[in-house]
Amino acid sequence: MGLELVLNNVDDFIQMLSLGTDSELVLNAMKENKVEYRKQLGRLLSQSRKKAKEEKCFYCGEICSSFCNSHSIPAYFLRNIAVEGDVYNNNKLVSLPLLDDDNGVNQSGTFQLICRECDSKIFSDYENSDNYKDVPTAKMISQIAMKSYLKSISKRKFEIALYDNMYENFVLPYEVYKEKQKINDLDLKEYIEDFNRAKKIDKKGWNNEYYLIYHQKLDYVVPMAFQSNVALLTDIEGGIINNIYNDSPDYRIKSIHICVFPLESSSVIMIFIDSRDSKRYRAFYKQFRKLSDKDKLAAINFIIFNYSEDVFINKEVNDDILKHNGLIDASRKSFDILTNNPNVDTALVGSDVDFSKMNEIPNLLLEEFKIR
Ligand SMILES: [Zn+2]
Repeated sequence: MGLELVLNNVDDFIQMLSLGTDSELVLNAMKENKVEYRKQLGRLLSQSRKKAKEEKCFYCGEICSSFCNSHSIPAYFLRNIAVEGDVYNNNKLVSLPLLDDDNGVNQSGTFQLICRECDSKIFSDYENSDNYKDVPTAKMISQIAMKSYLKSISKRKFEIALYDNMYENFVLPYEVYKEKQKINDLDLKEYIEDFNRAKKIDKKGWNNEYYLIYHQKLDYVVPMAFQSNVALLTDIEGGIINNIYNDSPDYRIKSIHICVFPLESSSVIMIFIDSRDSKRYRAFYKQFRKLSDKDKLAAINFIIFNYSEDVFINKEVNDDILKHNGLIDASRKSFDILTNNPNVDTALVGSDVDFSKMNEIPNLLLEEFKIR
């Protein structure tokens, strides 16, 4: 999470390369060569994308010559908030100089890990808008989990290739490289396990493996779309959920899944967890259920902006809202932690997220921001 976005900023790239030096002089020399670094960065990213590519479809295992450009959020949901085919990604809020701040629907949040045939089949329950009239089925939920884990796997594989390239071609110190790859490898292994579990649950049609904590259908279209697994660090009252300082090899960071799906004239908002992780999140969901309807939406909105960069936003949301300081700070949080300390695991994202402030940022899930 985060690295690709971070590395699109040349200053951060320079900072990253200069990890091995405390020298002001070296750092300044690097800053003077921004154009050169921009070129290097472009090369590095495309090399890493190539290197991270698989030969076989991650789902069916068949050799695959052309992978599907899978959407991490179904294109149908993005189209419901798109203006002339475009949506804003998180970069609109973080205002990075080198990234376009709007993406055509076809480029938004995509990954290439599975073949076209699989892509057209294995998500079909949850990608069918007719299936949202009622509470989503266990099958839909396992498909959502599968998709989110595939996206995480894709990101991790890219990061691993990127760090390999940086170590081979640049000045990334060995210790930093080794430490980062140790975390990346472990994360990748866990995401693959989680993916395989979701795949099995979907195939077997098991009903009680994921636990739907919250499901709400709103009778208006919210101006954002989101689907991701997020590791919360604290619950609503500040209690620890995931302890990032526990370095026991057996300790696993555990995620919840959050979905904000804009339909044609309504929206579906959901939180679910793997039932194996329900103990870790029990205090959170008990507190969450006691919140008013409005505060539940505020908490979800707050989590999305503080913990993730994978949100897509309608381009007609008022600029004053998107420039709201609290919202920008929240969106930058994941960004800053990585840029200031690139060898820290991304799980640190959100380490100072305090739910008592959740009503201090605009809540785009409220009816006042509806686009229809
Ligand atoms: Zn396949």
